[in-house]
Amino acid sequence: MDFLTATPELLIVVAALAAGLIGGLGVARRRKGEDTDAPPRPRTKRDTLELPIEDDPEPGAADGAVLDEAPPTVPDTPESLVEAPTLTPRERFRQRLSRTRNVLGASVADLFGRGVTDEAWDGLEEALITADVGVTATMEIVEDLKRRSREEGATTPEAVVEMLKQELRAALGSADRSLGRATDEGPTVWLVTGVNGTGKTTTIGKLAAIEQREGRSLVLAAADTFRAAAADQLGIWAQRTGAHLVRKDEGADPASVAFESYTAAAERDADLLIVDTAGRLHNKRELMDELGKVKRVLEKQAGPLEETLLVLDATTGQNGISQARAFLEAVEVTGIALTKLDGSSKGGIVVAVQRELGLPVKLVGLGEEIDDLAPFDPDLFVDGLFAQL
Ligand code: GDP
Repeated sequence: MDFLTATPELLIVVAALAAGLIGGLGVARRRKGEDTDAPPRPRTKRDTLELPIEDDPEPGAADGAVLDEAPPTVPDTPESLVEAPTLTPRERFRQRLSRTRNVLGASVADLFGRGVTDEAWDGLEEALITADVGVTATMEIVEDLKRRSREEGATTPEAVVEMLKQELRAALGSADRSLGRATDEGPTVWLVTGVNGTGKTTTIGKLAAIEQREGRSLVLAAADTFRAAAADQLGIWAQRTGAHLVRKDEGADPASVAFESYTAAAERDADLLIVDTAGRLHNKRELMDELGKVKRVLEKQAGPLEETLLVLDATTGQNGISQARAFLEAVEVTGIALTKLDGSSKGGIVVAVQRELGLPVKLVGLGEEIDDLAPFDPDLFVDGLFAQL
């Protein structure tokens, strides 16, 4: 509209409409808080923190910020809630580990069907290495099994499989695999890192679904600002899960997205903030600088982060482990999310990842659908590798 030629009457109408719209948004925002049935969370120190956006001199805070007016944190209608999963965790592990089971479970039964022979042990060694358990772990497992089989007189394929299950279970250890949560002060912050294509965004979306189903309110931050498509994709997950999305224009400073996302999460009294980051690896220095900055900005606001997860693609096997090392140098990682176990015959990588990186696998991706992320459960994993369906 050309304001120079508009009549005074028309300007009054436009002004009235704009005032109504702004007033309406204010009401809508207030209602979001009021409509929820959840009991109010006790106010904490962080709830009352002043987190200025406009006049804070944080890096890049002014470069074209676009805070999306997102869907309500608590969806208005039950239809928009994420539906309950159709498979039990055990069923999902069994169903989705079929590729590795074909390499490992099936071949072990075959090998030892003809007796506990040197050939059978060699075959087992090969099967474990093919399943990417890693050479050192394989040698140790097979040596242990040979000794036990002598000592315990295990001569049937069933007995060997049983012992192998125990060995694998022991190799997976008993680390704490729970995801950290803020104890006295919210929101909890989880930073998610990993090379592009490993499944970071999908993992965040699936995590958001789990959290939303458990009644937590969420903010998702699109701090991968190199690709607009990455933020778009995260936006779709935000819509599906009723999370609030914070994104900026392509090329904006990722640290400023992180900063504003924490501000938004604190202002909304959200339970959880999950931050997506870029996994572009031009060189290690660049990665370290960028991830380090995002983390520092968040820690300045939130204190130590509850989780810094590294997403690894199981189908890349040992290659993924060397990629992971670059990330470990850049940020202090607290746990691994291992994706695409369903698409890999190399599920043994779980053992290798933990051994070689010294970090617990906390989550596993078992497919592309919203429910296909599971807390890593060593018992269900080993069961899935040998289950006879
Ligand atoms: P990002 O670039 O790291 O954010 O990766 P995306 O989240 O975009 O995922 C890359 C591709 O991997 C997509 O096609 C996902 O659907 C797929 N993907 C992610 N996780 C899994 C998984 O656990 N299993 C399978 N089969 N595919 C997955």
